[in-house]
Amino acid sequence: MRIQPNIIITGTPGVGKTTHCETLAESTGLKHLSINDIVKERSLHDGYDEEYKSWIVDEDKLLDSIEDEVKQGGYIIDWHACDLFPKSWIDLVVVLRVDSTHLYDRLKARNYPEAKLQENLDSEIMEVLLQEARDSYDEEIVVELTSNTSEEMESNIERIETWIVNWRENNKEGAK
Ligand code: ADP
Ligand code: MG
Repeated sequence: MRIQPNIIITGTPGVGKTTHCETLAESTGLKHLSINDIVKERSLHDGYDEEYKSWIVDEDKLLDSIEDEVKQGGYIIDWHACDLFPKSWIDLVVVLRVDSTHLYDRLKARNYPEAKLQENLDSEIMEVLLQEARDSYDEEIVVELTSNTSEEMESNIERIETWIVNWRENNKEGAK
């Protein structure tokens, strides 16, 4: 049994995953697991997709590589997909959501190619990652939070911190 929870922060690129994960790692002591960085550092990919400017992840290699660490608990997983992680590893799935205008500005600022920008806007409007989370995990552990403004982000951080405190309390050794 884990004594620290594992959390996934997911959502369309630009929604605020990395910013949320970094802030939470700082305040809670959980470890920020950036799948993007790990895939790159540990070469867990089948090459680089030039058009989409992203690594083609080898999911089997990725899961093998992180399994021993993640099973210990205490990780905040930062990735724009959640369906690959086994249910037994995960205690909370946070799906961040954002309005199109904010997302457009953030992706534009990153110089995303037009096709990729449009695809991500469509994906956000169609709630693709929310649906993926709901299809992959029990509904009680999937939480949808909006990330349009810094005020919303602060309130999200507080909510997740509170959830972590409660989880730790309920999962102390000997807790019923
Ligand atoms: P992701 O990891 O999901 O791609 P980032 O955390 O890198 O997203 O955030 C993308 C950009 O949007 C960054 O410039 C970040 O500062 C900004 N941002 C993220 N969340 C918010 C928010 N809730 N309010 C305002 N700006 C935000
Ligand atoms: Mg990120």
